[in-house]
Amino acid sequence: MLRPETTPDCPACGSKRAAWIFYGLPVSFEAFGADLEEKRVILGGCCVSQTDPEWQCVECGHGWGRPKVLDDLHRFMEEEGLFRESFWARFRRWAGLRSD
Ligand SMILES: [Zn+2]
Repeated sequence: MLRPETTPDCPACGSKRAAWIFYGLPVSFEAFGADLEEKRVILGGCCVSQTDPEWQCVECGHGWGRPKVLDDLHRFMEEEGLFRESFWARFRRWAGLRSD
Protein backbone atom coordinates (compact mmCIF):
# COMPACT_ATOMS: atom_id res chain seq x y z
CA MET A 1 0.00 0.00 0.00
CA LEU A 2 1.75 3.08 -1.26
CA ARG A 3 -1.10 5.45 -0.89
CA PRO A 4 -2.14 7.07 2.43
CA GLU A 5 -5.04 5.25 4.10
CA THR A 6 -7.36 8.21 4.37
CA THR A 7 -8.42 10.48 1.54
CA PRO A 8 -9.23 14.10 2.36
CA ASP A 9 -12.19 15.89 0.79
CA CYS A 10 -11.39 18.46 -1.86
CA PRO A 11 -11.14 21.86 -0.13
CA ALA A 12 -12.34 23.59 -3.31
CA CYS A 13 -15.48 21.63 -4.26
CA GLY A 14 -15.97 19.14 -1.41
CA SER A 15 -15.59 16.10 -3.64
CA LYS A 16 -14.47 12.88 -2.01
CA ARG A 17 -12.74 11.76 -5.19
CA ALA A 18 -9.23 13.00 -4.58
CA ALA A 19 -6.23 11.32 -6.15
CA TRP A 20 -2.97 10.96 -4.32
CA ILE A 21 -0.02 12.11 -6.40
CA PHE A 22 2.97 9.80 -6.47
CA TYR A 23 6.31 11.48 -7.15
CA GLY A 24 9.31 9.75 -8.51
CA LEU A 25 9.65 6.78 -10.74
CA PRO A 26 7.66 3.79 -9.55
CA VAL A 27 9.61 0.57 -9.25
CA SER A 28 6.60 -1.29 -10.53
CA PHE A 29 3.23 -0.13 -11.78
CA GLU A 30 1.73 -3.27 -10.36
CA ALA A 31 2.40 -1.95 -6.88
CA PHE A 32 -0.43 0.53 -7.39
CA GLY A 33 -2.89 -2.12 -8.40
CA ALA A 34 -6.30 -0.70 -9.24
CA ASP A 35 -5.48 2.64 -7.60
CA LEU A 36 -3.94 3.89 -10.83
CA GLU A 37 -6.79 2.78 -13.08
CA GLU A 38 -9.47 4.14 -10.81
CA LYS A 39 -7.64 7.47 -10.52
CA ARG A 40 -7.03 7.16 -6.82
CA VAL A 41 -3.36 7.64 -7.66
CA ILE A 42 -1.82 10.03 -10.20
CA LEU A 43 1.80 9.80 -11.25
CA GLY A 44 3.43 13.16 -10.63
CA GLY A 45 6.62 12.41 -12.50
CA CYS A 46 10.14 12.53 -11.27
CA CYS A 47 10.76 16.26 -11.69
CA VAL A 48 9.46 17.71 -8.47
CA SER A 49 9.33 21.31 -7.40
CA GLN A 50 8.65 22.80 -3.99
CA THR A 51 5.12 23.75 -4.88
CA ASP A 52 3.81 20.41 -6.08
CA PRO A 53 0.64 19.30 -4.30
CA GLU A 54 0.10 15.99 -2.56
CA TRP A 55 -3.54 15.59 -3.62
CA GLN A 56 -5.47 16.41 -6.74
CA CYS A 57 -9.26 16.50 -7.05
CA VAL A 58 -10.55 14.19 -9.76
CA GLU A 59 -13.68 16.32 -10.15
CA CYS A 60 -12.37 19.88 -10.40
CA GLY A 61 -8.63 19.40 -10.76
CA HIS A 62 -7.76 21.43 -7.68
CA GLY A 63 -4.40 20.49 -6.17
CA TRP A 64 -3.46 20.92 -2.54
CA GLY A 65 -1.34 19.58 0.28
CA ARG A 66 2.35 19.29 0.78
CA PRO A 67 3.95 15.91 0.19
CA LYS A 68 6.20 14.99 3.10
CA VAL A 69 8.38 13.05 0.70
CA LEU A 70 9.28 16.32 -1.03
CA ASP A 71 10.40 17.85 2.25
CA ASP A 72 12.59 14.83 2.85
CA LEU A 73 13.94 14.95 -0.68
CA HIS A 74 14.60 18.66 -0.37
CA ARG A 75 16.46 18.20 2.90
CA PHE A 76 18.51 15.39 1.41
CA MET A 77 19.44 17.50 -1.60
CA GLU A 78 20.46 20.39 0.62
CA GLU A 79 22.60 18.16 2.81
CA GLU A 80 24.23 16.64 -0.22
CA GLY A 81 24.78 20.03 -1.77
CA LEU A 82 22.81 19.07 -4.84
CA PHE A 83 21.21 22.47 -5.18
CA ARG A 84 23.35 24.60 -7.36
CA GLU A 85 23.71 28.11 -6.13
CA SER A 86 22.99 30.77 -8.64
CA PHE A 87 25.80 32.82 -9.97
CA TRP A 88 24.47 35.92 -8.25
CA ALA A 89 24.19 34.20 -4.86
CA ARG A 90 27.83 33.19 -5.09
CA PHE A 91 28.86 36.56 -6.38
CA ARG A 92 27.08 38.36 -3.54
CA ARG A 93 28.81 36.18 -0.98
CA TRP A 94 32.12 36.70 -2.68
CA ALA A 95 31.51 40.41 -2.63
CA GLY A 96 30.42 40.24 1.02
CA LEU A 97 26.88 41.33 0.37
CA ARG A 98 23.73 39.96 1.92
CA SER A 99 21.30 38.38 -0.49
CA ASP A 100 17.90 39.33 0.84
ZN1 LIG B 1 -12.59 19.54 -6.24
